[in-house]
Amino acid sequence: MTLFANYVNGEWVSGRETFDNRNPANTDEVVGQFVKGRSSDVAAAADAAQRALPEWSNLPAPARGAYLFRAAEILESRFDEISADMTREEGKTLPESKGEVRRSINIFRYFAGEGSRLFGILAPSERARVQMFAVRKPIGVVGLVTPWNFPSAIPAWKLAPALICGNTVVVKPASAAPLSAWRLVEACHQAGVPKGVVNFVAGSGGELGAALVEAAPLKAVSFTGSCEIGQWLHERASARRLRIQLEMGGKNPTIVLSDCDFSAAVENTVNAAFFSTGQKCTATSRAIVEESIYDKFVDALVERTRKLKVGNGMEAGIDIGPAVDQGQLETDLKYIEIGRKECGAPRVGGHRLSGGAFDKGYFIEPTIFADVTPSMTIAREEIFGPVLAVMRARDFEDALRIANDIPFGLSASIQTTNLSRVFEFIQRSEAGLLTVNLPSAGVEYQLPFGGTKDSSFGPKEQGPAAMDFYSDYKTVYLKY
Ligand code: NAP
Repeated sequence: MTLFANYVNGEWVSGRETFDNRNPANTDEVVGQFVKGRSSDVAAAADAAQRALPEWSNLPAPARGAYLFRAAEILESRFDEISADMTREEGKTLPESKGEVRRSINIFRYFAGEGSRLFGILAPSERARVQMFAVRKPIGVVGLVTPWNFPSAIPAWKLAPALICGNTVVVKPASAAPLSAWRLVEACHQAGVPKGVVNFVAGSGGELGAALVEAAPLKAVSFTGSCEIGQWLHERASARRLRIQLEMGGKNPTIVLSDCDFSAAVENTVNAAFFSTGQKCTATSRAIVEESIYDKFVDALVERTRKLKVGNGMEAGIDIGPAVDQGQLETDLKYIEIGRKECGAPRVGGHRLSGGAFDKGYFIEPTIFADVTPSMTIAREEIFGPVLAVMRARDFEDALRIANDIPFGLSASIQTTNLSRVFEFIQRSEAGLLTVNLPSAGVEYQLPFGGTKDSSFGPKEQGPAAMDFYSDYKTVYLKY
């Protein structure tokens, strides 16, 4: 059994207590044991990050980039192993894990390249012989708190921009899937990132989260996870005036209009609703379908969904892995029961899978409820599982109204061949991430990422926008 230690001040740190990282497709398999960090480890990690700050932030940014390029190479050299680790700890299929590890490598390289830019602002002064400009400076020690659903990409898209801007970090990964984030930290260690620049403490979110926002050196927190924890962190962090960035829940719509490419719209909706077991923050959980094609579209969705293969993501031909853990499975089943009461039996799915290998994991059928109305619980609350609510809309206006009528605003999609409708949608959708004739999930790293309303708070992540969270401007007026 491999024991994965915490990483503080460049040392692998053990502890008295450990916790198991289990495979949700086969709970007999312990992927690894992790040292259960304590508040004191977080405090030590934040202190180490503070001590490492002057040297790291004074290093030329391209030199910081060189470390990230090296870490990317290390990740690439172990691509297959790291991808398999992810499937074993989180449950997503191996092709999905490979896609995510590829993305983490690309994110490291993208932000490594930012080290050669780190653009400031140069503006003309109104005064003669005055040069004025603003340069980017790091903000200091940053806490990174991440969820289990993209256990590598999300830590990567926080860690890489934080480091390239000259900050030092304490990473707190999700307890359900800490290994993928641990691999990123290991790659930084092997790449020779100086001690104290990257620190990693796994363990209970409640205990470590409180210790993190209370750690004196901390200047900022970037969090991805549930609205509930995000709100809690925000209150604590605001009291100390920490800079904070929150990426949280969603209830993302796909609008399907009668002029869509029908089979592509079916495929996109099924892909966004069910792949990764519906556990993507940008997953489609509401399909809002124009009246005139509603019945035909529901039938086609059901038929396509019946063909999906649920099973252990390590096996070839599997489309959907298990729920990540018992708690998420219970949440999925709870909402399926609510759905039954609200609108009758699902059109497909609705059960935990059992028998044979299914008994060892948290497998659940992809589930579709039809004739869901906007006020129903399953149309309003985030489930975060493979449960799709299909809703009827009179026309585009009605569909857009339903799509926007929720407290969330993460992603939204439209399936149509009408260009005017596309631009109306872009103009009037209240979500932060929009897709057209694509699944609502499946974003890249080169553009800003994040939502609106209750889904997000603070500057966006990824792309050039990431630099705005992880750096400050220092403005200079110079007379010559
Ligand atoms: P979560 O329960 O909120 O946990 C997220 C992270 O916060 C974990 O590392 C967790 O640690 C930690 N945590 C728990 N309690 C804490 C506390 N009191 N203080 C500080 N940190 C604490 O979310 P999750 O179940 O991992 O992830 C699913 C949620 O993430 C969904 O709502 C999904 O929509 C959202 N999500 C959003 C995005 C986005 O970009 N908007 C992306 C992915 C996921 P433990 O694991 O130890 O509890």
